Amino acid sequence: MITNISECFNGVLKGARGLPIAAMVEFTWSKLIEYFYDRHKEITNKLLEGKKWSTYAFSTWEGNRRKSEKYYLKAFSNQHMIYQVVTSLNMCSAGGGNHSYEVRLQERTCSCGKWQNIGIPCSHAIRVCDAVNIDSITYIHPCYSLDYALNTYSHAFVVPKSQSLWRDPMGPKWLPNPVLLRAKSRLVKSRISNEMDGVRNKDREPGWQREDVDLIES
Ligand SMILES: [Zn+2]
Repeated sequence: MITNISECFNGVLKGARGLPIAAMVEFTWSKLIEYFYDRHKEITNKLLEGKKWSTYAFSTWEGNRRKSEKYYLKAFSNQHMIYQVVTSLNMCSAGGGNHSYEVRLQERTCSCGKWQNIGIPCSHAIRVCDAVNIDSITYIHPCYSLDYALNTYSHAFVVPKSQSLWRDPMGPKWLPNPVLLRAKSRLVKSRISNEMDGVRNKDREPGWQREDVDLIES
């Protein structure tokens, strides 16, 4: 998951690589504003069209609803709102059908595990909701609602002041240490190579990768 998020950010900030720090900050800031502006506009338009749920949640629910039409219900415990749903017999499918699931409506769970895991009623739960005249779409977790998404992108950014109006920074001034300045020379990578570098480095001498040398006199 963390890797996926990192890849996501890498993709968004691809153009910022190699820029000076001030330009990198400005680029990231502009991207962020653009990102929030576009998404807020898109979600507002969807709300104006009368939509309430994200595309993912609605299409998942819709697919589950279509599947639920083939199931049949066995009364189990009306008092505790526990129901048994049996899928139809299907000799053409790998599982063969005729599977039994326990739906607990009050607890919002199904023995298939999908409802409690993703927060969208599974086909078994929808079958029960239809039987007891409950609108199953209301059981979708609010985190999938467009209202929640709109709140996420409703942050009010402040237009930055013109640079000519900036105050001089208070406190000590930081200067680079002249002793640590690099001489004019060619840089050598000190990164440890992996299998992805195999083809590129096959002609190089072994062991070069572990060198800690940053500079080679040109
Ligand atoms: Zn289920």
